[in-house]
Amino acid sequence: MSALQDNNATSALLGNDEVAPVHEDNAAAGSPFLLTCDHYGRAIPRMLGDLGVSESELARHIAWDIGIAGVAHALSKQLDAHLIAQRYSRLVIDCNRPPRVASSIPRISEATPIPGNENIDAEAAQARRQSIFDPYHRRIAEVIERRMRLKIPTVLVSLHSFTPVYAGVARPWHIGVLHHRDTRLPPLLLELLRAEPDLVVGDNEPYSVSDDTDYTIPIHGEKRRLINAAVEIRQDLIADQAGQRQWAERLSRIFAGIETSLRAQRLI
Ligand SMILES: [Zn+2]
Repeated sequence: MSALQDNNATSALLGNDEVAPVHEDNAAAGSPFLLTCDHYGRAIPRMLGDLGVSESELARHIAWDIGIAGVAHALSKQLDAHLIAQRYSRLVIDCNRPPRVASSIPRISEATPIPGNENIDAEAAQARRQSIFDPYHRRIAEVIERRMRLKIPTVLVSLHSFTPVYAGVARPWHIGVLHHRDTRLPPLLLELLRAEPDLVVGDNEPYSVSDDTDYTIPIHGEKRRLINAAVEIRQDLIADQAGQRQWAERLSRIFAGIETSLRAQRLI
């Protein structure tokens, strides 16, 4: 293979007939909420085969955020909010990790080794970044910057789901609010979720946001000082369409209340 062909092969990880990494709903929507979904899909570029991982493992939470796509679609529709989502598996490249950290292209996830990620060289890692990570984050940046130019208020909400049991430990929370530097949205969201009598609400549980373990919130939300938070819903609650619809309805009602409150405070 010539050097030129080799370059083409590594910069074009995705064939022309393969699905684009970025999925969008409601791009012209009027809501201040901008929804992102880093772990929306579990596609794998054909060139990477199955990464050496069995189909049953690839259906688990290690490959994507189970159930969140259905919630994101319904919530985007109900709020009339723009949704930007990423269709490739987090096992190919994790779109919520800085590319410099080891878990960006994980060699192991929970207890499952990912053979296709072992011994990956810098060039192959760069090809994944260029083909999947960069277009997704470029699109989010473009959308936010356009909104800022046009003085359209933006509240960034990053949607995720978490496995009910991790490494043998059961998690009691139904939903978690994950945050770091923003002090406007997280307390409001926690207050309204805690007012729901049937919910166990995590405050920075089961994870918290940090510059090393996250990308979307620190880079798109915090660096631009946007009002922001991440939401994590437990996967067993949104495993089917009925659960996804219920959670989208609940969150849509709560976010409508938040919009009213942010407007009253003149924060948007
Ligand atoms: Zn996630």
